[in-house]
Amino acid sequence: MTHILVTGGAGFIGSNFVPYFLEANPDIHLVNIDLLTYAGNLDNLKEVEGNDRYTFIKGDICDRKLIEDIFEKYDITGVIHFAAESHVDNSISNPDAFMQTNILGTFNLIDVAKNRWMVSPGVYKEAYKDSRFHHVSTDEVYGTLGKKGLFVETTPYAPNSPYSASKASSDFIVRSYHHTYGMNVVTTNCSNNYGPKQHDEKLIPTIIRKALSGEAIPIYGDGSNIRDWLYVLDHCKGIALAYENGVSGETYNIGGRNERNNLYIAQTVCELLDQKHPKTDGTSYKELIAYVKDRAGHDFRYAIDASKIENNLKWKADENFESGIDKTIDWYLNKFIQNKTKSLA
Ligand code: NAD
Repeated sequence: MTHILVTGGAGFIGSNFVPYFLEANPDIHLVNIDLLTYAGNLDNLKEVEGNDRYTFIKGDICDRKLIEDIFEKYDITGVIHFAAESHVDNSISNPDAFMQTNILGTFNLIDVAKNRWMVSPGVYKEAYKDSRFHHVSTDEVYGTLGKKGLFVETTPYAPNSPYSASKASSDFIVRSYHHTYGMNVVTTNCSNNYGPKQHDEKLIPTIIRKALSGEAIPIYGDGSNIRDWLYVLDHCKGIALAYENGVSGETYNIGGRNERNNLYIAQTVCELLDQKHPKTDGTSYKELIAYVKDRAGHDFRYAIDASKIENNLKWKADENFESGIDKTIDWYLNKFIQNKTKSLA
């Protein structure tokens, strides 16, 4: 049995990754460390509760002693690092936690892994010769695009928010451990994810939640900001492929070639809700869309060229935005109806 440490596995992407990866790898035991901040939710992991190849530990990736103990107790031979403060708006109002977790937490983890797995720069202990540190990151490190162009792996870093600056810093720490110590590392930089289990604060869950409760659906500025949307399970599949087959020291961009602006997202979600859960008064949810003051420093457009992971690792997104959003709405509607039934009981 191989023991892999997943960090932040109770968050949105991690909690989609854990069941997927456990099922795809019957010889792997996953140890999930998560601090259960406001963004972590163990309800998202109900499907793996009781699985004897899964262990949950509540803890902070910045706690060095705890991380050392976990590496020793479970003889960890690989790390897939999701844990982060991830919401750009929070990074504007409260950047401290972003610097702590995203920068110092990543440093702590990779430094413990290096000391545990390696004898000296470039030399791994025999038992850990295949051990790898996978860092999960974002396309936001590249800054913003104008109307044209795509982010490639060689695009210079130009982070614009405290969130993206903290993620860029963590990417550089991971890069430096490869170049300086010869560590076996891979970084993936992904575009905006959506799908089941995402925290309420993010754009698509906010649109659904506000619509279903009949409140104004807030859209920043004029709604023209563009993101490249990827269904979360497609991201998970890309991470698994890069963890297993990626070349050490390389970075891989993951994106769905699904550029959509925020207004289109809101309108599409409302149209699907109109079909699947019509309002009793016969009006469209679209009437709830309301423009609000733009986010400070709001990046205009992100878009990924995923050719490298597509060509070298044979990754391909299974969902386009329209198929992925349909599944996503079904998942949230189901949750909404269950919650409503619970509150009526
Ligand atoms: P999330 O905010 O939903 O989950 C983060 C998880 O990390 C939570 O469960 C939280 O409790 C945990 N955590 C936070 N601080 C911790 C700490 N100090 N110690 C241990 N656990 C801690 O985030 P997400 O959307 O699932 O993102 C996961 C990763 O993927 C992040 O590194 C993020 O930068 C990256 N990413 C996200 C997206 C996206 O669209 N969501 C896109 C690209 C990359």
